[in-house]
Amino acid sequence: MLVIDKVSLNLSVDEALKIGQLGRIADKIDDMDKRLEECKQLIKPVAIYTYTKIKQISKEGLLIEENRFLESSKLAEQLSCSTEIAPYIITIGSDLERRVTSISTDKILDSWILDNLGTYALRTLGKHIQGRIQNEKGWKISRFNPGSTPTWALEEQEKIFGIFSKEVVQEKIGVQLTDSFMMIPRKSVSGIMGQAISDYHNCMECRLACEYRQKPYKET
Ligand code: SF4
Repeated sequence: MLVIDKVSLNLSVDEALKIGQLGRIADKIDDMDKRLEECKQLIKPVAIYTYTKIKQISKEGLLIEENRFLESSKLAEQLSCSTEIAPYIITIGSDLERRVTSISTDKILDSWILDNLGTYALRTLGKHIQGRIQNEKGWKISRFNPGSTPTWALEEQEKIFGIFSKEVVQEKIGVQLTDSFMMIPRKSVSGIMGQAISDYHNCMECRLACEYRQKPYKET
């Protein structure tokens, strides 16, 4: 198990403006440098990940070490040629979220921009951890997240946390999973990375009209 707690994210205004709707109103946003600086001061990017062997693949899902079963036909299909996966949890902490909430009534636009910058930071952290795993394993990585694909239920987050143990996740990176399967801090992501048979992305299976979409919807 690896805990990554000293991450220096390379955040830039140009990249930030590609997140959500930020770019569309770029000409109306002043002081983006200052806003990004505030975001950098408020985030605490940390991550935990590990490697676990796939013991068996059935059409319902993956049986991994310690007889844990990840129930998803999509995982079974996409990881059918894999022997190992990397479960992970990442977060940027709760300070930015608190700031977003505290100004959400009086400074709605500022709050919204900061929230988007937090999403950008979290996404960049995900790429950073993906890069590490790619270097360590040489995989061409796809990411899968419970609740982000119709074939992997949100409830399965319990299993991701179980791989590390909920207590360890809270102690090492400060992320909790509630009884309704929400993560606290909110700007956290849990899932697995692995070498899929295609260049898979959750968004390709998601029909939502979502401003954070990263890949077009693909009819299967
Ligand atoms: S389209 Fe939006 S909600 Fe759907 S998987 Fe992508 S980022 Fe998530």
